[in-house]
Amino acid sequence: MAMTIPLKGAAAETVMALLEEAGAHDLPWREGKTFAYVYEGGRDVEEVAKRAYMRFLTENALDPTVYPSLLKFENEIVAMSVAHLRGDAACVGNFTSGGTESCMLAVKTARDHARRERGIAEPHMVLPVTAHAAFQKAAHYLDMEMTLVPVDPESFKVRPADMEAAIRPETILLVASACQYAHGVVDPIPDLGELAQSRNLLLHVDACIGGFILPFFRRLGESVTDFDFAVPGVTSISMDFHKYAYAPKGASVILHRSKELRRHQIFTAATWTGYSVINPTIQSTKSGGPLAATWALLHYLGDEGYLRFAERTLEATRAITQAIRKIPGVRLLAEPESSLIAFAADGFSVFPIVDIMRRKGWFVQPQLGYMGSEANIHLSIDQSTLDLVDRFVPDLEEAIAEAQRRNDAALPEPVRELLGALEPASFTPETYRQLMAMAGTGEGLPEGTTAINLMLDAMKPEVAAIVMTEFMNDLYVQPKGAAA
Ligand SMILES: *Cc1c(COP(=O)(O)O)cnc(C)c1O
Repeated sequence: MAMTIPLKGAAAETVMALLEEAGAHDLPWREGKTFAYVYEGGRDVEEVAKRAYMRFLTENALDPTVYPSLLKFENEIVAMSVAHLRGDAACVGNFTSGGTESCMLAVKTARDHARRERGIAEPHMVLPVTAHAAFQKAAHYLDMEMTLVPVDPESFKVRPADMEAAIRPETILLVASACQYAHGVVDPIPDLGELAQSRNLLLHVDACIGGFILPFFRRLGESVTDFDFAVPGVTSISMDFHKYAYAPKGASVILHRSKELRRHQIFTAATWTGYSVINPTIQSTKSGGPLAATWALLHYLGDEGYLRFAERTLEATRAITQAIRKIPGVRLLAEPESSLIAFAADGFSVFPIVDIMRRKGWFVQPQLGYMGSEANIHLSIDQSTLDLVDRFVPDLEEAIAEAQRRNDAALPEPVRELLGALEPASFTPETYRQLMAMAGTGEGLPEGTTAINLMLDAMKPEVAAIVMTEFMNDLYVQPKGAAA
């Protein structure tokens, strides 16, 4: 039997119960035990966000002329963001659905600016390998050329000379991060601003994760590299609210230094038979919910509330950083400059730590090795972490000791070699099925997510990408028994 729309409707309570049942096995974020994906502001923050969101759930931000409320929220959020990032009266921006959309719009704006103003038909961009994958997605969707630049192996920051060496005649855009997600460090943005100006290029600063919190860290006495509009040469900035502004998912901004630049972000179509389409963002019809919730939280928490959250986050980050420094066998990859931590292991694999911590009720994030960055564990700290540090640290210590002791978490050498030798061109769906069977039966392999992470880490990145694509392609299918 195919799964069809249920013939008869059910009582609202029945449907809600089904939703609860479905959610029972989701990652439990409410206790703050999740070191990625969720930023927890507490029950009151959640309540304000939900009320604001629900009030504007049905309003459609597609047309700001008939929803003056949504236009007001957006312009005010952008104005507050500009002030937060030390821009001037000429700065403009738009509210988007998330960091990826903001980054893609920055690239699209640069591309169309270059085509129009500089006559470059096939523009190219230069980005550190530590820049978020959203820029590679932008290059892919927008069919742009890019060069990935390696970073300094000690600091994980990009070196301006390496960025400069990658510039070509068709280069239009440099990208840098404040901070980058993987290791939590800020690129040398003042130097890159100078470079951009001297070569007449645009410079986008991806401050999706750091943009909101770092100005508060600076006020708390941390030395934070200048990364915002105060730096000459920075032409656009992306900043998310659904991270350290604790807004519901679907909340970010893309800011430009001027309307002259932002013009190239807007898509307009007068050449079809329907209503006039004038879209500054990728989405067209969109709920007013995320916009209203973000606006509400900025007013509810206020500068003081966010400063307090930043202080708690900083304290938790320091405590966990210091604890990790003392744990034998592991090593911080970089000195954290924000609220993100990455640590690697010496002489054993970090991947089992993920499964062991999961058993203890914590979610920590594995990162595969690539271009000078070895496999590691990532922790995004937030204000809710502070109350848990005393429980988290001993559990982490135990998990690391267990991972070290059990050192069965290595692939047998012949398997490693086999995986490493796989080539993208000869990788067929059959190869994928064999690999999955191997990981699934687990013969001679560690349990849980460890096996798959070890396997992915042993492969060429291009092969790992195929494996992950196949995995996703298998994940989103009709439920079992539903196919006709
Ligand atoms: C999270 C993040 C992004 C992507 O944002 P999404 O909201 O997940 O689409 C881009 N850049 C950085 C630095 C990020 O941390």
